[in-house]
Amino acid sequence: MPIDATLPYDAGNIFARILRGEIPAKTVYEDDHALAFHDINPQAPVHILVIPKGAYVSWDDFSARGSEAEIAGFVRAVGHVAREQGLVAPGYRLLANIGGHGGQEVPHLHVHLFGGRPLGMMVPA
Ligand code: 5GP
Repeated sequence: MPIDATLPYDAGNIFARILRGEIPAKTVYEDDHALAFHDINPQAPVHILVIPKGAYVSWDDFSARGSEAEIAGFVRAVGHVAREQGLVAPGYRLLANIGGHGGQEVPHLHVHLFGGRPLGMMVPA
């Protein structure tokens, strides 16, 4: 069930729990501002989620309230993971689902990083 991205941040969401170390994740990268880990239900040979460490629901929330350091750190982390995973030469896709029409399920901002095969249509019909 997609979330309502206008609601306040819910500190009990699954990615907040991963950030607090309450549940495990297969981490591929971590720094002061971001955490990257494998999606539990991969949709491509490479399917990694990159999340900011701060409490932000969505891209618009993050861009409105995030500090310059948090935003720069998060954007750099996404690029770092893409390079580190060897995705630059073959190509890859970034996706952020936001709110109801976006189909967002977890109310903590995350960017999906897909790769490892040709990824087909950008938006299914
Ligand atoms: P959304 O639809 O919100 O953009 O995507 C949420 C993603 O989080 C889904 O791809 C789902 O498989 C993934 N996910 C949900 N729960 C967990 C979890 O506990 N651990 C990990 N690693 N991924 C999760």
